[in-house]
Amino acid sequence: MDQELTKNFIENFIDEDNEANTYGRRVHTRFPPEPNGYLHIGHAKSICLNFGIAQKYGGMTNLRFDDTNPTKEGVEYVNAIKKDVEWLGFSWDDRLFFASDYFDIFYDYAVKLIKLGKAYVDDLTGDQIREYRGTFNEPGKESPFRNRSVEENLRLFTEMKEGKYKDGEKVLRAKIDMASPNINMRDPVLYRIVHAVHHRTGNKWCIYPIYDFAHPLEDAIERVTHSICTLEFEDHRPLYNWCLEEWEDPQGQKPRQIEFARLNITQMVMSKRKLRLLVEKGIVSGWDDPRMPTIAGIRRRGYTPAAIRDFCERIGVAKADSTVDAALLEYCIREDLKLKMPRLMTVIDPLKVVITNYPEGGTELMEADNNQENEALGKRKISFSRTIYIERNDFMERPVKKFFRLAPGKEVRLKYAYIIKCEEVIKDESGRITELRCTYDPESRSGSGANADRKVKGTLHWVNAADAVDVEVRLYDSLLLDTDSGDGDFLAQVNPKSLAVCHGKAERALAAYGIGDKFQFLRQGYFVIDEDTTEDHLVVNRIVGLRDTWAKMQKK
Ligand code: ATP
Ligand code: MG
Repeated sequence: MDQELTKNFIENFIDEDNEANTYGRRVHTRFPPEPNGYLHIGHAKSICLNFGIAQKYGGMTNLRFDDTNPTKEGVEYVNAIKKDVEWLGFSWDDRLFFASDYFDIFYDYAVKLIKLGKAYVDDLTGDQIREYRGTFNEPGKESPFRNRSVEENLRLFTEMKEGKYKDGEKVLRAKIDMASPNINMRDPVLYRIVHAVHHRTGNKWCIYPIYDFAHPLEDAIERVTHSICTLEFEDHRPLYNWCLEEWEDPQGQKPRQIEFARLNITQMVMSKRKLRLLVEKGIVSGWDDPRMPTIAGIRRRGYTPAAIRDFCERIGVAKADSTVDAALLEYCIREDLKLKMPRLMTVIDPLKVVITNYPEGGTELMEADNNQENEALGKRKISFSRTIYIERNDFMERPVKKFFRLAPGKEVRLKYAYIIKCEEVIKDESGRITELRCTYDPESRSGSGANADRKVKGTLHWVNAADAVDVEVRLYDSLLLDTDSGDGDFLAQVNPKSLAVCHGKAERALAAYGIGDKFQFLRQGYFVIDEDTTEDHLVVNRIVGLRDTWAKMQKK
């Protein structure tokens, strides 16, 4: 479909505002994470959307940390989030902001609301406030402190700020309507007391604004035009607008909140709280465990920024919640790596093969394409000798029907090399196969032998034992057995077999690569060299297998 012709609903709203000249044709968005955890792929969607839309309209995007919860936030998260946004390929230029930079402005604005009779200090406890709030079917009850005088409210709010009261002893509330059909409008809390050290303002404050109050002000202060957020804030939009009623913008402009459906992906957890639980319980090795759907995790897993941007583009934005199949994300990764990365041979579960009629001590170099689909990546030489490794599951002693790989008395071609035939199976006392004895057809050398074109049914990848590189191969499966429904104990869904570690043998060429380099291992999938790699220990992660379940689903 032509992207230009099919604008999404957010772009339609922006066009509407441009036509009406609401913002002087400015488009200014923001990405506003709370620095209380690492970003996940759901956030990537929000990042791509906010930065992407601004780019499309020649606008700007701010990176703003919504740091109004001192007990849960920290500088570790701020730094991780900055790194993730940059890695995805977006730049906030000089527009890095913190909500905590505006604490004085928030405070002054709250004082203004008190003076206008639009806010009051309440002594009810948190539980009482909840009780008084009412339900969907019943209106709320007014607090006995609702009608305090402006003077008393000003004095109490000042005392709250000065630290005269303990956490929870008092709050500042908006004076709106306890009978509103929208519960969010029933005198919501604007400020609460929290005696905690803030990662940027230290001990300066012991009162902190609530998200719903701070967020619209942050947008207004930064002169954001379109405040794009997820659907759960739809019912908060009246409050967003209420908070800005007394805001004075020099050009009379107020930001517009637009909601879209959050991204959910099958068999992935998409909540910082749950991701933190996985880290804290030691179920994963950290926020950047390659099984985690965090940006740090998928980066280490070997996913690429281009693939994630492509994925976000393909899923688009919608107004209704849905769950995207993880197979689409994997498809995007394969598409990005397919032509760019070299293809090497690595045996993940090695089985030794001795070619008995090949000269002892002999060796020769075979020519291999670095990527059969992209000649520009050139060719390389692979050594061949009498002892090689093949994949253990490429051999079956009693082959099932349609097993076109190696079996006793059967022939296969070794990729880029010769045709071999299995003559003998060697086992240890336990009956485990330890070695195969094969013969080769000296005329069958790929490309040059007289029998180079002789057809056999199977072609296997292999590695020369003489110069193979040992490699630890980490194979991943999804972290959850099923799609997280949102309720219930998601920890019960954790897949106990999400990581399998194998000790493989790679062709020599792999030794020349470094951490972060990616390739296809023929017949096995795409891999990346992991940061656990040391001088004498090579570790690779499987990024994604080769089988394209997404393309298959599309054909059905
Ligand atoms: P979580 O629910 O994982 O804790 P959050 O929404 O609390 O996420 P924030 O740091 O507040 O995390 O989010 C920053 C921005 O990212 C917000 O604008 C939020 O709407 C958006 N966002 C968070 N999760 C998703 C998601 N799954 N899909 C799309 N956008 C998301
Ligand atoms: Mg949040």
